[in-house]
Amino acid sequence: MNLILLGPPGSGKGTQAKLLSQHFQLNHISSGELLRQEVAQNTPKGKLIAQIMNQGELVPFDTVLDLILKQINTSPNGFILDGTPRDLSQAEHMDWFFNQNHIHLDTVIYYQLDDPIALNRLANRAREENRSDDTPQTHRERLRIYHQKTQPVIDYYQKQHKLVTIDARPDIDTIFTNTLKLLPSK
Ligand code: AMP
Repeated sequence: MNLILLGPPGSGKGTQAKLLSQHFQLNHISSGELLRQEVAQNTPKGKLIAQIMNQGELVPFDTVLDLILKQINTSPNGFILDGTPRDLSQAEHMDWFFNQNHIHLDTVIYYQLDDPIALNRLANRAREENRSDDTPQTHRERLRIYHQKTQPVIDYYQKQHKLVTIDARPDIDTIFTNTLKLLPSK
């Protein structure tokens, strides 16, 4: 099974991706996490990526693509793409790649959450995880970019009848149970 997870920052899609990947034995591919690993290597490229991420902006897609394709190509049971696509051109590119490689995208799960709750959760996470790209300014900027660029991706998959929507307000376990109800059982 191959899944894409969408939702604003703070919607908990990363947590759900982890739970789903354990449940279905899928490769959890988080573009944000892969980028943070690049940053941690402190290479010139890593430093450039850090600057972009710290402003809450999108990293050039060829960089992201390199990292996620390596993962997709080593996902024997399928994958969960978390954090990509971030805009329409990324979505179109991924579709093209899936077609070329005879990869079937099963479902796109959209974790829906309003901005005030998202901002609250991001502030809590910043305190807990001490992530360097986590400041109140970055949070607002990431939400702005999310609405401007990522929201159209939701309509794109809706038109393809691939989208299911999950209320991201309840606790982690409830959201997970609700997600499983919408997926084929193991
Ligand atoms: P995330 O952990 O998914 O919230 O991503 C953290 C940051 O990584 C984002 O704010 C972007 O700067 C960058 N990023 C992650 N995925 C992508 C992507 N598909 N395209 C461009 N930038 C990305």
